[in-house]
This record gives sequence, C-alpha cells and structure tokens, in this order.
Amino acid sequence: MELSRRTERCGLTRREFLQAGILITAAAASSRLIVGVEAAPGSTSTPYYEPFLLEDDEDRMVFYDALGFVVEENGKKCVANPLLPSKCMVYTKPYRDDRFPLLPPGATEDFYGRCIRCGLCYFACNYMGYNAIRLAGLREGLSRLGSPVVDELITHPCTLCMECTKICPTGALKEISKEEVKMGIALIDPDLCWAWNSGDCKSCAKACPFGSEVFEFTFNEWGVHTRVIADKCKGCGLCVPACPIGGSAIHVLPREEYERRT
Ligand code: SF4
Ligand code: SF4
Ligand code: SF4
Repeated sequence: MELSRRTERCGLTRREFLQAGILITAAAASSRLIVGVEAAPGSTSTPYYEPFLLEDDEDRMVFYDALGFVVEENGKKCVANPLLPSKCMVYTKPYRDDRFPLLPPGATEDFYGRCIRCGLCYFACNYMGYNAIRLAGLREGLSRLGSPVVDELITHPCTLCMECTKICPTGALKEISKEEVKMGIALIDPDLCWAWNSGDCKSCAKACPFGSEVFEFTFNEWGVHTRVIADKCKGCGLCVPACPIGGSAIHVLPREEYERRT
C-alpha cells in the first residue's frame, strides 16, 4: 500500500507516520530501507507492525531524524555511520572506481608471452552467455591490446565454467580444476558491508560456490563480522553482484592490491 494511503488510514500526517516507524531492516543501505509502522499508532493493544519500503530521500531523513541517527558534517545533514557516529554513512561506492583488470582462470605466470590474442576465450565465454571476458583495448596499452580481461564482475562475474581454459590453443590459460583457480582475492569493505554495521546478511557467502569454506563469521554486538579467507578465495567475483549494497561492499582485488590494503 502507498505511504499516503497508509497515513490517511491512520489519521496522521506523513511526518507523524514516519516518526512512529521502527527500523526492520536496512538492506541495500538507503535504497532498500524497510520500515515497520504500527498498524494503529498509539493504540494500547499489542503493536502490530506493517512493513513497507521507504524509497523517497526526504522520507528517509525524517525517519532517521526521529530515531536520532542524523548528524551534520560540513554543514550538511546526513545519516550517521554506526561505527563512527559523528560521521556520515557512505551508502554507495561507484564500482567503476574500485575495479581491477583480472585475468581469466588458469592464467599462467608468463600469460602475456603465451597469449596470441586469438580471442577464442572471449568467444567461448560469450558463447556460454557469461560475457565475463572482454578484450583489452588501447587504453590498457599496446602490450596488452587484444588480450582477455575480466573486470566487470558486478554485472558479469566468472562462473568458473572453465570453458576458456579448454579452448585456449597456446596454454596461456591452463586447464585446471575450479578449486585451483586464483584470479584474485575478494575483500569486504567494513564501512559499507551491512553485516558489519549492526546487521546480518551473508548474501556474498550464499552466492559463493565454495560458501562457508571461504568465509568466516564473528558474531558481536555490531553485527556479524564477515570476512573472506584470502587463501581459499578463487577471485571469481560471484559474490560481487550478490551484495545488496549499492556498488557492492565486496570487491575482488589482484593479490598485490589486496596485500597493499590489508
Ligand atoms: S571460466 Fe567460463 S565464465 Fe569464467 S572467464 Fe572462462 S569462459 Fe568466462
Ligand atoms: S569469495 Fe567471491 S570471489 Fe572468492 S571464491 Fe567466493 S564468490 Fe568467488
Ligand atoms: S559484503 Fe557480504 S555480508 Fe556484507 S553486505 Fe555485502 S553481501 Fe552482505
């Protein structure tokens, strides 16, 4: 039911209605905030909360303000970060700003010496309908031009079908098992991850083909701290689009970048 019809039914203004709300879940940070409002606010009977989605930015601010979660940073009002209550919560991080070119699975140490830029891996991946591989263009430099790149994990993660490794004619991509793949390492950003910020989620772990083997969870008062075990992660990126946070709170990094950040 629409918010205006609900407020009408309760005889409250939109503001009063929002102020009576309780937070049910804030999956996807601000964009999927599910709020419960007592079916008949103020009544003495047992409260029954009807959940509804808060999509309007102004409504969200009224709701958070009533909960005391709004702070001012650089003269601008924003929702507080539960881990740093005087700072604003960062809801999204553009994926484009934090993605790295990875090689397809089975890439050998001397990959660029062996790859003849035939594009067969690219065609195999596209033929399978996964579109995880694109061919490097001029902006990647002449030395890499035409070689395969996997870097759009948020829309096209590698499914570990291993077809590209079977078709490569030079052995630049070696036929290995899924368990041996090492494309990169997934790292969760605790500032963005819902599970780190007073919630539970595990969407990334559920999407990971290796599930609980690769993830570890620590339960505490701030939420379920979720971590990827670096040595066990294959870097396929299937966890990236599963994350409900806009821009994804989990990104796959090449080993050097992972080591620089951890
Ligand atoms: S393993 Fe499959 S999905 Fe992954 S890059 Fe190769 S062909 Fe594409
Ligand atoms: S944690 Fe993510 S990148 Fe690593 S194996 Fe699982 S799904 Fe793939
Ligand atoms: S990183 Fe994982 S646990 Fe955290 S919000 Fe994203 S999917 Fe959920």
